[in-house]
Amino acid sequence: MFLEPHFKGQRSGWIEVVCGSMFSGKTEELIRRLKRAQIANQTVQIFKPTVDTRYDEEKVVSHDANFILSTPVEQASKILDLITEVDVVGIDEAQFFDADITDVCQELASRGIRVIVSGLDMDYQGQPFGPMPALLSVSEYITKLHAICSHCGNLATHSYRLIPNEDKVLLGEKESYEARCRTCYAMGNILDFRKKETNAPEVKQTKLDL
Ligand code: ZN
Repeated sequence: MFLEPHFKGQRSGWIEVVCGSMFSGKTEELIRRLKRAQIANQTVQIFKPTVDTRYDEEKVVSHDANFILSTPVEQASKILDLITEVDVVGIDEAQFFDADITDVCQELASRGIRVIVSGLDMDYQGQPFGPMPALLSVSEYITKLHAICSHCGNLATHSYRLIPNEDKVLLGEKESYEARCRTCYAMGNILDFRKKETNAPEVKQTKLDL
């Protein structure tokens, strides 16, 4: 479990990234860290991209309905306009932000702010998602969380899209995605590929014999 670092002497800011697949508990972990900061009487500000309006306009809400108030912003650079005198800044769903989010986090950290960033590390195609690789590179601390594979029960790292749609951004919960391990993710893609190639009747993917 992540514990807040202690500094001797001059306090400096830093960047923490919490990443992982869907259903891995990223937002719960972000909320946990922010609540601990509030208990320590630190001031906290939270931002999220406006694209993510799944549950509520102004709350960072995790799948278990744990929530904390946040400010939706359209562009990463707006965060610098909205920032007040704070100790901690939380950023949820960072994968949906533009590339400027990395410079924004660096700027906040250089001002002495603790920046906690949460986001999907891979998109549904298994590729690095948006600004996440850059954020991971410049951060001091990285926590990679794992979900449980819906098929085999092993640790899951991939977000498997259940419905046919090739848009990179497709918001939705359990009806649109499931968490899968590398093997079950690959098996699903092979079955989908065969389906497209042969126009075969739909293969119901409920159980994989591995
Ligand atoms: Zn699996």
